[in-house]
Amino acid sequence: MAKETHSFQAEVSRLLDIVANSLYSNKEVFLRELISNASDACDKLRYQAITEPELIQDDPDFRINIVPTKEARTVAVIDNGLGMNREDLVQNLGTIASSGTLKFVEQLQQSGDSDKASLIGQFGVGFYAAFVVADKVEVETRKAGESQGWRWISDGRGEFTIEETDEAPARGTRVRLYLKEGEEEFLEDQRIRRIVQTYSDHIAIPILLGERPDDEGNGPDQLNTASALWTRPKSEITEQQYTEFYHHVAHAMDEPWLRLHFKAEGKLEYSCLLFVPTQQPYNLFHPDRQHGVKLYVRRVFVTDQCEELVPAYLRFLRGVVDSEDLPLNISREMLQNNPTVAKIRQTLVNRVLNELKKKADNAPEDYKSFWENFGAVLKEGLYEDQEHKDQLLELARFQSSEREGLISLDEYVQNMKEGQQSIYIITGDDLETLKKSPQLEGFRAKGVEVLLLADAIDDFWTWMIGEYQGHQIKSVTRGAAELDDIKSGKDDDSSDSEDDKQEDQPDDSQVGTLVAFLKTALEDEVKDVRSTQRLTDSACCLVADEGDMDIHLERMLRQHGQ
Ligand code: ADP
Ligand code: MG
Repeated sequence: MAKETHSFQAEVSRLLDIVANSLYSNKEVFLRELISNASDACDKLRYQAITEPELIQDDPDFRINIVPTKEARTVAVIDNGLGMNREDLVQNLGTIASSGTLKFVEQLQQSGDSDKASLIGQFGVGFYAAFVVADKVEVETRKAGESQGWRWISDGRGEFTIEETDEAPARGTRVRLYLKEGEEEFLEDQRIRRIVQTYSDHIAIPILLGERPDDEGNGPDQLNTASALWTRPKSEITEQQYTEFYHHVAHAMDEPWLRLHFKAEGKLEYSCLLFVPTQQPYNLFHPDRQHGVKLYVRRVFVTDQCEELVPAYLRFLRGVVDSEDLPLNISREMLQNNPTVAKIRQTLVNRVLNELKKKADNAPEDYKSFWENFGAVLKEGLYEDQEHKDQLLELARFQSSEREGLISLDEYVQNMKEGQQSIYIITGDDLETLKKSPQLEGFRAKGVEVLLLADAIDDFWTWMIGEYQGHQIKSVTRGAAELDDIKSGKDDDSSDSEDDKQEDQPDDSQVGTLVAFLKTALEDEVKDVRSTQRLTDSACCLVADEGDMDIHLERMLRQHGQ
């Protein structure tokens, strides 16, 4: 087949422009990205070989070689992993498949130069980082089980070529970078060694410097420890190693906000190494609600799509679960309704919720930043996981009509006024509108706190949960407010003289006439018109009848065609 020329997807070109022209205070991360991809490719093939052992029988030991060649000014990263065929190359190294990354590129484009550096620092650019140090990149690859090898070449300026080649590795991928002028440091053994030890030590596959033993039969040198990080004793793992592992497993570049590393022994044996990100991942609200925890069985990667392992409301989790008990050749179908997976999930949920509780108690300010990122997701659990609702209610935080910042339900209950029975909430689409809602006036006048709920899920869980510590959770838009029974919390109110009240009190017969008139005028629009003490400044507001659906919920369901 003749050489083909392809254009990069527009977003790839944009990304490449940005990458090549700005930034990178630490260019060296290109090596981490290439090693990370090589390791992923080995993981994928190792899994596939469980059912198709012939795929690896000629060369069963996985490895990654880094080969600098001074004369040619190239450095190559070679793996004997899954490899790519022509379609894979076009798809994987020509387009950006993930919608999250696409959004990231959009955001990059719109940001100023200095923000670009920090954005890229946070998210990484994967394979394309190669073009930070190289003006030409050549990928020679042969997919496991296929005979044809392929060569992909690009200078990172809008186009790439693909052709057949005989020079691809027997199996796997060789990524060769032709270094730009001035990037010679990446040809030095010492430099490469240090980069690998810094960023890639946790990679569970041997990373070797060079490809073959030298003339005296030495080497190639192994640069990393090459044991799965989660199996090592905690005391032997440095903070930086944890962070680098998180970057690899989460495909993220921020610092982990929370880390949970534990081993279960007993009836079931498994290790968990889990992280909560500091930054909100882009795909958090993607409809597929996928989590980021990879399932391994005895150190072999099995899948990153085992839905049953982590509930959707903890989908911000990243990391690894490694089971000693599951059969290695377990299919993805068999993982559904698997009792071992169910038990692991149970422990995992409890451990994570406990850890969050500790943070909430011991580092409340820090916890607020978590809540701002992931609270809306965690609240889905109030609706979906009855078993953990008490733990989740303790973790929930809310904006309030009476104070700045976030409060817990306990704090709300402590602040209830004498005679107040219910927890009052108002739901809507955004906080600012909620704060100005006329429905709040009567509550404000009496100093009664109202929780302001602006997430889509809020209507559902409040309806589902119904009460907290014996206090009904009640929307302010529902029914006749119980405000009359509540003692005013505002000190100055008690000084109201009788005279003032007299003056404010409208004439009953006039109100009656007005109400009768409005009822006739709005006959087809509303169920009833009533006079109220609840409003202090506004002339009127809409309320739902006791037992009817909350106004915001009704509007939302109507929008969704229900
Ligand atoms: P990511 O690793 O986050 O998916 P990258 O930009 O690093 O993104 O890589 C894009 C894709 O290219 C990978 O998902 C993979 O399918 C493919 N790829 C990259 N390097 C290799 C490799 N060494 N072997 C096999 N496939 C690879
Ligand atoms: Mg990658």
